[in-house]
Amino acid sequence: MKLEKKVVGLVATILLVLSVAVCGIFLGIPDLHVWAQQKQLQYATQVEKGESVLSLMQAETAVLKEGQQDIEMQGQLRLEIPEEVKTADVSIEQNYVDQEVRIYIPEISQSYFYDYPMIGSSDHIDDIKYDVENKKGLIDILLDNVYITDVTWQDHYLYMDFVAPRDRYDKIVVIDAGHGGSDPGAEVLGTDEKDIDLAIAKKILPYFKDQDKIGIFYTRTDDSSLSLEKRVGLANTLQADLFLSIHNNTTASGRMSGINGTEVMYHAADESGASKAFAQTCLDQLLQTLGSGSKGVVVGDDIYIIRTAQMPVALVEIGFMTNQEELDKLKSDEYQEAAAKALAQAVLQTLEE
Ligand SMILES: [Zn+2]
Repeated sequence: MKLEKKVVGLVATILLVLSVAVCGIFLGIPDLHVWAQQKQLQYATQVEKGESVLSLMQAETAVLKEGQQDIEMQGQLRLEIPEEVKTADVSIEQNYVDQEVRIYIPEISQSYFYDYPMIGSSDHIDDIKYDVENKKGLIDILLDNVYITDVTWQDHYLYMDFVAPRDRYDKIVVIDAGHGGSDPGAEVLGTDEKDIDLAIAKKILPYFKDQDKIGIFYTRTDDSSLSLEKRVGLANTLQADLFLSIHNNTTASGRMSGINGTEVMYHAADESGASKAFAQTCLDQLLQTLGSGSKGVVVGDDIYIIRTAQMPVALVEIGFMTNQEELDKLKSDEYQEAAAKALAQAVLQTLEE
């Protein structure tokens, strides 16, 4: 009897297990499976600072797809921002030189990626890293080329698409403000060349706001250090149509003097003559707008960024910082604005030719 009871019990158990399994197949054990995986992904662990979250995103995306959720994330990334964070406090920096997008989100913790799965996929992403900078969470997206990141907000979701510049623009211009960061360029009477170069460079962009087929890319838009390789690297990677580098001059000795005027350097080895023509147009426009004296167009092939640029390049020396009168002008907003306008005109004119 005892044995019989055991057998009956065993058979009953097997039947129960089988029926649960059969029902499960029809009633959605796959969902249970997905739920379990999600649960595990969301609460199992935390991300360390500096750690890659790319494979985590891929896993989370796969789980959501398996769950047949309505996601079509090809070429797109989606981040969820915690309710308590204002979307206006999320800042997104595109660094074209380093092919990087940096998203700063206040108050995200190491468990963020588990609480708010980042989903999507893109062929253009080399890696995604989590970090903390200035007490803000940082999501650092490393791209495999230069892409324009289109950002769209939908409630607390941030969507990112990565667009190849040539898919958006017919013409591409790279503007390089000389020096920067630990390299001040010329230092004259307390004024750093890097600041004047940057101020003029940044004033160029507004002249292109109605030109939606011309893309303007800067090597730097703040006081950061940047190698010459990276500057010309951006222009070459983009296969830019024009490369314009903005500088200011000093006498060889660095002493104050009466020497003044505008000079533009070009790439003489560019046999098409396009670099020289672009330089000449820059010079003509600057002389006309600034009323400065002409130092002419000058061969600049011994300068690295001129020698290695694979497109028409011009390096403008707007004026002499070692000339008191010109230095005072170069420091003024009006003169910087005029120089920027002249350079914008030169670029537009050259692109039209
Ligand atoms: Zn310089």
